[in-house]
Amino acid sequence: MIKETARQITEERIKPQRAELDEKEQFPWEIIKEIAKADLFRVFIPEEYEGLGGGSLDLVLAVEELSRGCCGVSICYAAVALGTIPFMRFGTEEQKKKYLPQIASGQELAAFGLTESSAGSDAGAMKSRAVLEGDSYTINGTKQFISNGGEAEIYSVIALTNPAKGSRGASAFIVERDTPGFTFGKKEKKMGIRCSATCELVFHNCRVPKGNLIGKEGTGFIVTLKTLDESRPGVAAQGVGVAQGALEEAVAYARQRVQFGQPISSFQAIQHMLADMATEIEAARCLVYAVARTIDSGAANFTEDGAMAKLFASDMAMRVTPNAVQVLGGVGYTRDYPVEKMMRDAKIIQIYEGTNQILRNDIISHVYKRKGMRP
Ligand SMILES: Cc1cc2nc3c(=O)[nH]c(=O)nc-3n(C[C@H](O)[C@H](O)[C@H](O)COP(=O)(O)OP(=O)(O)OC[C@H]3O[C@@H](n4cnc5c(N)ncnc54)[C@H](O)[C@@H]3O)c2cc1C
Repeated sequence: MIKETARQITEERIKPQRAELDEKEQFPWEIIKEIAKADLFRVFIPEEYEGLGGGSLDLVLAVEELSRGCCGVSICYAAVALGTIPFMRFGTEEQKKKYLPQIASGQELAAFGLTESSAGSDAGAMKSRAVLEGDSYTINGTKQFISNGGEAEIYSVIALTNPAKGSRGASAFIVERDTPGFTFGKKEKKMGIRCSATCELVFHNCRVPKGNLIGKEGTGFIVTLKTLDESRPGVAAQGVGVAQGALEEAVAYARQRVQFGQPISSFQAIQHMLADMATEIEAARCLVYAVARTIDSGAANFTEDGAMAKLFASDMAMRVTPNAVQVLGGVGYTRDYPVEKMMRDAKIIQIYEGTNQILRNDIISHVYKRKGMRP
């Protein structure tokens, strides 16, 4: 049902609008409202907070289907889950009651603020500070590249409460959009996923109530790692979805494009290319669904599975989408067809929520650890 609902939104709302949204770099508010109306924001929220009580598999199915149409739209949706996981998993009852129903209804979007200009892959190098003063924390610092930045109402933000301890001195906070001292800086002009908002968050003596601390002081890095572990299958699902969309475009074009007196789909070179694309997509889909099911089974550790799924699915998408452009030939390189956008969109999946280099580092350290070896 979730898959069908997301598919309908993709066919009826996303596909007709995606080129224009991309061209104008316009946040897809109308589509977001449709997603909310279809209850897709409820999918990943527990029933007691007005969600549907679904799990990781439900979320990846929705993300995959939306990504078939446009990864720009699907990141606006998936980034809400990313921004929600910190307090959904580690927040107090009060925080969950206050924020989760709003997110479930789609009335408010969420975002996750970790990255800074000097702290990307090395998140522990962050400089943002949060100092407890009476019954509130004062936050100072700037976050960079934040998806849904400027559009979301609720931000999960990581800042150092004890800089001497490095990443062990980080804490997570909920910051509401209208909090005095919280503003938005540069909005990025991007290669792909151009309808999504990627923006700086600027904190200047921003006071947030003590009650907005997520978990305990000093657990911000654990909250971050667990959040990314849980969110990463959704990013992997973007790779599967965008590649599936590109394959469908390539098949449809190949069947109607005639050269040398016959449809190009009759040439074995094209058929084999399409066969390889379909096979790789299915392999990635299996990895993504497998990690989602592992999460839903209540497993304690799925870091390696999620890293493998995101690594494979995003590299796969960066093989499949250029091949879709190749099948379409010259028109594939124009903006009259969606495959060039799919290729631009797919690139980011290799970069965000842990670059593929960092994920390879993580995977190999798990491989060595299992064998009791050191790299
Ligand atoms: C469109 C977009 C949306 C984003 N959304 C969010 C968001 O919502 N929230 C958020 O907090 N962040 C977000 N980010 C930030 C994103 O997660 C980071 O860009 C990413 O983690 C990489 O950090 P960096 O850009 O600083 O690259 P760097 O860390 O500077 O890396 C540069 C290159 O060096 C490589 N490298 C670095 N360290 C190593 C190493 N140890 N071994 C091997 N190679 C290495 C990297 O793989 C990469 O190829 C977003 C970024 C973009 C572009």
